[in-house]
Amino acid sequence: MLPDTSIRTRLAIAIGVLLLALFILATLSFRGFQALSDSTRELVDQQSLHAFLANRTNQHSQTAARHLLRLLLTTEREARVPLYAAMDEALAIGDQALMQLENAAREENLAGDLAEVRRLRTVFGDSFQATVELIELSGPRSAQGHFEAQTEPALKALLAATDRLAVAQQDAMQAEVEMLTTDAAAMQQRLVLISVLALVAGAALAGLIARSIVVPVNAAANVAESIAAGNYDVNIPLGGNDEVGSMLRALAAMRERIAQREAHITRLAYVDTLTDLPNRTRFVESFAQLPTHSGALLLLDINRFSAINKALGHKVGDALLRGVAERLRVFIGECDVLARFWADEFALLLCSADADHAQSTAEEICIALRAPLDINGQRLDLDASIGIAMFPSDGSDLTILLRRADTALRSAKRRHVGVAMAQAVKEPSAPEQLSLIGEMRVALSENQFVPFYQPKMNLRSRQITGAEALIRWRHPTRGLVPPGLFIPFAEQTGFIREITPWLVTRVIRDTAAWRRDGLDLVVSANLSTYDLLNAELIEDIIATLAAEQLPPASLCLEITESALMDEPELALRHLDRLASAGIKLSIDDYGSGQASLSYVKDLPVNELKIDRVFVTDVDTTPKNAAIVRSTTLLCRELGLSVVAEGAEREGEIEWLAANDCDLVQGYGVARPMPEDDFLAFVRNFGRA
Ligand code: C2E
Ligand code: CA
Ligand code: CA
Repeated sequence: MLPDTSIRTRLAIAIGVLLLALFILATLSFRGFQALSDSTRELVDQQSLHAFLANRTNQHSQTAARHLLRLLLTTEREARVPLYAAMDEALAIGDQALMQLENAAREENLAGDLAEVRRLRTVFGDSFQATVELIELSGPRSAQGHFEAQTEPALKALLAATDRLAVAQQDAMQAEVEMLTTDAAAMQQRLVLISVLALVAGAALAGLIARSIVVPVNAAANVAESIAAGNYDVNIPLGGNDEVGSMLRALAAMRERIAQREAHITRLAYVDTLTDLPNRTRFVESFAQLPTHSGALLLLDINRFSAINKALGHKVGDALLRGVAERLRVFIGECDVLARFWADEFALLLCSADADHAQSTAEEICIALRAPLDINGQRLDLDASIGIAMFPSDGSDLTILLRRADTALRSAKRRHVGVAMAQAVKEPSAPEQLSLIGEMRVALSENQFVPFYQPKMNLRSRQITGAEALIRWRHPTRGLVPPGLFIPFAEQTGFIREITPWLVTRVIRDTAAWRRDGLDLVVSANLSTYDLLNAELIEDIIATLAAEQLPPASLCLEITESALMDEPELALRHLDRLASAGIKLSIDDYGSGQASLSYVKDLPVNELKIDRVFVTDVDTTPKNAAIVRSTTLLCRELGLSVVAEGAEREGEIEWLAANDCDLVQGYGVARPMPEDDFLAFVRNFGRA
């Protein structure tokens, strides 16, 4: 109703209409009742006038008759004279009244009755005159007879006619009163009807107006609720020009702005702004909504990214990441998801891919990324590593999949193979790992970690000249847990930064104590990637050596090539610091990666440990023999001592001795042992 008028106007109109109806009603009633009372008063006036006049006519006719009667009894003429005068006066008054009555009642239906009265008055008048004449001519006595026979009956007839007139008038008035009563009743009904109509119209009007306000307000409330529930597609009804209309328009504007803001927030929350790819959060959600239950998760990482970033600046680093994202986009299939997690870590979810497909896709990605990237005219050669976890075979939970893919990625990096499948990388089961992390903290504070020492034998002197400290976890319920089951996990979770300082300190103290007891050994401890980037640890090691008064050359720190890869510059700075402090450094697991000796030769290291894979059956496998021999030869030229790891058999040890290896470490000499056993072993060694 009147959608374009304001609510205020609508209310004003409604109230105005109601008041007008009330006013008209009141006026009508007032006028009706006034007319009614006027008619009634007029009627009453008229009636009383008529009655008065009729009465007056009768009264004076009677008075005249009474005088006439007295005249009849008055014999002296002299005495009759005043009576004549009184008679004439009475008759004149009666006539005047009758005339007035005739005038007053002319308009009413009393003409017949009036004519009759007039006629009878004439009859009475004539008879009266005749009686008077008889009195004067023949004397009262003789007139008596005439009076009784003529005049008296004429008077009676006149009086009766006048009475009838009065009665007829009464009846007429009665009829008129009845008519007025009927009129009044009709008017009453009309007024009641009009009142009812006005009431109904008023109620309808109020209802319509209320509706015209309530309906759009309710619609607006619904819209507001929908917006609150995050549904921005709701249809906002187009309001008129009233207050509700402006409210709806404000609501529409508000929705627009909220939707924009939410889209912006969602973008910030879900999109990696550098590459425009989904971020980790979005990736996690996409995985939960994946239509398939099998597929592959690829975790990709650019080799030496932080070095490039540092050397060429963050702008180039950012452009590089965008370039990588561009190249990766090509590999996104219909329901696949590509995301950047952070820094140079990308994840690609291949839905419904089997292991072969995942592996070949990963290899294609590696090839695609190897093509030089042109950034601001600068040619960059890239290289990536990819870890692959398959679901559901490697796990169906994303956390586990990500961890497994990450382990595979690290393995790929360490071995410089480009792509590694999680299946091929050994790791403890998920529940085992989850309980481990909570327990590791307790383990450290309750001294559940212990170093085992594995002897290193000098192949020329056949003496134990060194040892490697290998950590073990004496778990209260699991027993002795090997490092392979918790060190990778400690590295991933960062807990390694608690373990290494503890172990290195322990090694320094043990070595210093043995030395005080006359046992001079060079003891190795293993450093992880993170340790090599931890400046505080580097300084702490140097300080602890000084505090324990152990010559730095009695400590050897073993590092893998991959530990140097992440941030080579910083790692190298720390290696230099350790080397210049006099600490020995060793390249661990040599040959398992792809590092060449030319790379090793620039490092401040003293020792190279040939990985077990080349040492095993070196005496019987010509290929292994060739590798070990050439490595030994080169190390000799570079001034590095060579340690052969994992020699188990006598034949292997003898081959190594014959081929110029410096040291051997393996079950063939001894297994890693607790401190006491180790000391006993060393003291007895060579005596047996
Ligand atoms: P790694 O540094 O290469 O240590 C040598 C591993 O080879 C040790 O395994 C050792 O017991 C094993 N081994 C030695 N001789 C033989 C042999 O003749 N045959 C066979 N089959 N194996 C032999 P372990 O103690 O299980 O340690 C595994 C890895 O855990 C280590 O490899 C090292 O990378 C890591 N690790 C051990 N202790 C620590 C530590 O305190 N800190 C860090 N960061 N890593 C550690
Ligand atoms: Ca080692
Ligand atoms: Ca090793």
